[in-house]
Amino acid sequence: MAEILKANCKICNYKTSFKYGGGKFDFQTYNPVPVYDKTTEELTSVNYMLEKDNPDYIFYTDEQLKGDNEGKYIFQNFDLKLNQVNNYCPKCKNYSLDFRSYMFC
Ligand SMILES: [Zn+2]
Repeated sequence: MAEILKANCKICNYKTSFKYGGGKFDFQTYNPVPVYDKTTEELTSVNYMLEKDNPDYIFYTDEQLKGDNEGKYIFQNFDLKLNQVNNYCPKCKNYSLDFRSYMFC
């Protein structure tokens, strides 16, 4: 299920929103997943199907960008999992970024 998530950092107030998950019909070719872009140092959403091996990106579904989820919600997208709380903040570099569901699309 495709959805828009909002990201919000508890420490520096960094805010952004991004698309997560493909639609019912196109998920095999288009599956947007949030990444940390090493070049721009921004959180952005890229097509996992095309970019999964791109060394410029670290996916937020990767353990590297995850802190303690405190037993909170996990946004599951096939075998990809996104933690709700304590993700890596691209701005202040703390594990203090929370994701929440904004709308389904
Ligand atoms: Zn921050």
